[in-house]
Amino acid sequence: MADIIQLLPDHVANQIAAGEVVQRPASVVKELLENAIDAAAGKITLIIKEAGKTLIQVVDDGIGMSETDARLSFERHATSKIRTADDLFKLDTKGFRGEALASIAAIAHVELNTKQEGEDLGTKLKIEGSKVISQDVAATPKGTSLLVKNLFYNIPARRNFLKSNAVELRHIIDEFHRVVLAHPNIAFSMYHNDGELFNLPVSNLRQRIVNVFGSKVNELLVPVEEDTEIAKISGFVGKPKFAKRTRGEQFFFVNDRFVKSAYLHHAVASAFEGLLREKTHPSYFIFMELDPEKIDINIHPTKTEVKFEDEHSLYAILKSIVKHSLGQFNVAPVLDFDRDANLDTPYAYKDKGFVTPKVTVDADFNPFKAETRAKGFAKKNTASWESLYVGLESKMSDTDQASKSVSFESEEVTGTLFDDDELSLPSTYQLHRKYIVSTIKSGMVVINQERAHQRILYERYLESITLKDTVSQQLLFPLKLHYTSVEIHLLKDMYGELERTGFVIEFDQENAAITGIPINLAESEVSEVLSQILADFQGNVTKEGFNQVDVLAKSMAKSTSIRNGQPLGAEKQTQLVNDLFACKEPSLSPFNKPTFITMTVDELDQKFT
Ligand code: ADP
Ligand code: MG
Repeated sequence: MADIIQLLPDHVANQIAAGEVVQRPASVVKELLENAIDAAAGKITLIIKEAGKTLIQVVDDGIGMSETDARLSFERHATSKIRTADDLFKLDTKGFRGEALASIAAIAHVELNTKQEGEDLGTKLKIEGSKVISQDVAATPKGTSLLVKNLFYNIPARRNFLKSNAVELRHIIDEFHRVVLAHPNIAFSMYHNDGELFNLPVSNLRQRIVNVFGSKVNELLVPVEEDTEIAKISGFVGKPKFAKRTRGEQFFFVNDRFVKSAYLHHAVASAFEGLLREKTHPSYFIFMELDPEKIDINIHPTKTEVKFEDEHSLYAILKSIVKHSLGQFNVAPVLDFDRDANLDTPYAYKDKGFVTPKVTVDADFNPFKAETRAKGFAKKNTASWESLYVGLESKMSDTDQASKSVSFESEEVTGTLFDDDELSLPSTYQLHRKYIVSTIKSGMVVINQERAHQRILYERYLESITLKDTVSQQLLFPLKLHYTSVEIHLLKDMYGELERTGFVIEFDQENAAITGIPINLAESEVSEVLSQILADFQGNVTKEGFNQVDVLAKSMAKSTSIRNGQPLGAEKQTQLVNDLFACKEPSLSPFNKPTFITMTVDELDQKFT
């Protein structure tokens, strides 16, 4: 039989390699920024259009390339950074595989402009899908500009696989953070769709962190510093009140390279034990310098994982250093006075004074009166449910199937779940300030008040966001809140939806001036609600896509709902029950947890056998 093995043509091999190196626009950003740093740049500019889908450009003022090197740099395994296999064990550059440019050029339209110091003219090179389109002598400043257009233009499957601009931009910003924090001695700026997102002058690490995350973080940074035999450790941890709901601001750098390590994260987190509010995560920016021969960076093509020779000692060292710093800077004792006491006191005890128990007897008690009241109650219930879904129907478009299913489901629920027998006494009772117990035809229903209210609010927010007929309450004085430029960007990005819940906001670089808020929101809750929304958005970005409207409605519902532990008067309880069973999906919270359980008389009987 004839031989069948062939060597793959270069452009095919490059495309295959590209699959490993370039997962998304953010991977290109990382590679180009790292090349600029390896080229000893003093200033690096990143320009992005449409979250990198149409354009990624990195401009540096580094050493540039000769004409020959410019051409060679796009060949696979072309690198100036290692010469022998031994070099691999003492890496002090970011790149070394010589794959990035070849891979990127295989799957995009690339334009390179580069000039070395002291030369009059530089080189301009255009490459599309690994093919050189043109090469010219060009007048260009010292350094290198690499422009990458139409990423994945020749691999539609990959292009379609890209997430929304919000998600892809978030990934780019994450990479940008990792690079700029590791190199405060280099000036960086970043533009997205012509707007400036970051402008970071050369500074020390503390100032760089502040420039990236906003001036409010300055007072929250606690330095860590220790020189040990295994590693030199430096950087900052955030005071416990800096702790966030998202895991965002957690950075380890090994020899100025961002790395991920669940194991070392655990070391830091455990040093914070007992100091953090529930569900918040500590922030840290920790730099470790180790002998390059004692680590192995080369275990993953995207190089964020690292193997340490002596991981256990490093764990112990980190934990004790962070603990020591938190203690030394008096963070632990200060905390007790500093934090909001509401967070510590269970809701149930919040407004509770010392009350002597009293027994009151209702001399006017008349069971038949109660019965008549009950009748009215039942009628009112149905009426309010009816009015609720009638309202919905008229508001929604007539073609909207959803409105039909609302009324249908609600009718069914009212018809079967609740007892319309006029002789019974439908009443509600709040149990442990958490559950609302009510009678139904077959027995009883126990409702979790917090989840039920989340469901109710969630459907209302969804409705108001999609129906566009919003009412907003004007604030007498605008509420000014401070955010990082990234947070401002995110808020602007979802402003259309925010506006439809009732928010009216004006933005500048680092501030949001809020002049209108949703009607059911108190001004004092606004800051909390918005930070919840931001946390949810950032948390959701890494998951499989997300629906902006849905995330927004969920976080609004979560942060504005009645909480477990909150006492509810009889009227509020009834309202809650009514509203819940008028929902499209009364049985589940927006987070897919059950909102109520039922227990039939039969089941109760069973328990008494
Ligand atoms: P690696 O960084 O692993 O060496 P790349 O494909 O990223 O591989 O780059 C190939 C070579 O091109 C580099 O080794 C370097 O010599 C050169 N190069 C790439 N980007 C730049 C730049 N911005 N300035 C100067 N030289 C560069
Ligand atoms: Mg490189």
